[in-house]
Amino acid sequence: MTTAAVIGSGFGGLALAIRLQSAGIATTLIEARDKPGGRAYVFEDQGFTFDAGPTVITDPTCLEELWGLSGRRLADYVELLPVTPFYRLIWDDGFVFDYSNDDAALFAQIGAKSPGDVEGYKRFLTYSANVFREGYEKLGHEAFLDFASMLKAAPQLMRYEAFRSVYAMVARYIKDEQLREAFSFHTLLVGGNPFKTSAIYALIHALEKKWGVWFPRGGTHALVRGMVKLFSDLGGTVRVGSGVEAIRAEGGRVTGVATADGWSGTFDAVASNADVVHTYRDLLRDHPRGKAAARLLTWKSFSPSLFVTYFGLKRQHPDIRHHTILFGPRYRALLDDIYSRGVVAEDFSLYLHHPTATDPAMAPPGCSAFYVLSPVPHLGKYAGDWTVEGPKYADRILDALQATLIPGLKDDLVTMRIFTPQDFKVELNAHLGSAFSLEPVLWQSAFFRTHNRDDVLKNLYFVGAGTHPGAGIPGVVGSAKATAKLMVADLGGVGIGHNSALAAE
Ligand SMILES: Cc1cc2nc3c(=O)[nH]c(=O)nc-3n(C[C@H](O)[C@H](O)[C@H](O)COP(=O)(O)OP(=O)(O)OC[C@H]3O[C@@H](n4cnc5c(N)ncnc54)[C@H](O)[C@@H]3O)c2cc1C
Repeated sequence: MTTAAVIGSGFGGLALAIRLQSAGIATTLIEARDKPGGRAYVFEDQGFTFDAGPTVITDPTCLEELWGLSGRRLADYVELLPVTPFYRLIWDDGFVFDYSNDDAALFAQIGAKSPGDVEGYKRFLTYSANVFREGYEKLGHEAFLDFASMLKAAPQLMRYEAFRSVYAMVARYIKDEQLREAFSFHTLLVGGNPFKTSAIYALIHALEKKWGVWFPRGGTHALVRGMVKLFSDLGGTVRVGSGVEAIRAEGGRVTGVATADGWSGTFDAVASNADVVHTYRDLLRDHPRGKAAARLLTWKSFSPSLFVTYFGLKRQHPDIRHHTILFGPRYRALLDDIYSRGVVAEDFSLYLHHPTATDPAMAPPGCSAFYVLSPVPHLGKYAGDWTVEGPKYADRILDALQATLIPGLKDDLVTMRIFTPQDFKVELNAHLGSAFSLEPVLWQSAFFRTHNRDDVLKNLYFVGAGTHPGAGIPGVVGSAKATAKLMVADLGGVGIGHNSALAAE
């Protein structure tokens, strides 16, 4: 029987493992941490459930497809609850904008703020729908292994002016500065600076509009557990708490993996969902390809990190929406501090997650669960000691929340923990503690990103944020589709099952 190992159980690793197992390839999923999920880990404390990372679930169809490969239904494993508004955006001057896919409500809010921008917004919507069709539906799950594939996509990229930034494109259609921020901040959800990220990423707007925003009952980790159960039901093997120490390779092929707890296995193919630099530099340290590829990667630009504070309160806050973005007084200058200058600024823009707004069972009765996230420079730009700075920074953020949105926050605090750039590095092996891997800029996209199949080691594959198309759940689940297509085609004829065509579709 054909066998494969997938290193890492982030959304990308899980989706790939499901696709391979659905195709009849006996797949072993190997995760270093004690729980699966990667960035989508979960912390549980005193009856509070804190999803560690992703909370905005978009494009449920890319997830449903994974169950459909074996004739199953996502709804039998996980319940997805709709979230409305998608986000409440609040500026420090008091302006509030509820972002949703309710056109009438959107037009009314835009018209009230800046009457001339309603028509411009409609034109922006058309642009976004076009790039969504070309960039997501057509190219979002195709591997770019050679320059020719890039040239093939070039006409569409030029047509939609992919060389411009998302902000520049939004600014072309919308005049009001706060509305420009409202329609350009989305790139931050995948690690991109709206002033540098290709306008192709404006597709996120159309994607959210088409399928809405969802939240799994029980939290994002309930979705992770559902994916693990699906993989196990298909006959896949899961190893958690088993960090891979080495990918074994001979000549131009990999032969298997060895883990820190003394286990090893031989496989026909290995796919890494772990950080791309970690994979080449550490796991392939004994092969010349490892050193060479790691050296090239370290020249590239990595997304910033995040500072996350999880906290549980002994009171409920029915007025606070599930997803709130709090814009600080500076937009572009703050982003420059984070992306270029490596400054942890005095001011901040925050994302506040309030899961108990949708699922009260994520906290004890009468209580509420939150996390607040602040983008910060990665460890290559900011050399401060987060073990010292972290608690002070969290305190400043909680003070700001208490002053603006959650009065009495500190008195009501039941539990709290932080996750710093240092934790991204240590817990997730993330290069420079980056939260999203390679920065999503045009010159690091598609062919210019880590290839879904290695150029030298022909049965080594990649899946997840560091490879095409990039970070975010729809991105990494799309990367799994691209990688599965390659793997199923490459491993074909070695006894793969009847679902192989479907899994690679
Ligand atoms: C705080 C935060 C909030 C986010 N919010 C959203 C959101 O709302 N919506 C959205 O779509 N996206 C969001 N994202 C982005 C999204 O979570 C990620 O892009 C995506 O989950 C990354 O998935 P991945 O497949 O690349 O794997 P990862 O999640 O990076 O997982 C990789 C796995 O590999 C494991 N690993 C590493 N080294 C080894 C080794 N040597 N051996 C074995 N295992 C190893 C790690 O432990 C980890 O489990 C957020 C990210 C963060 C950090």
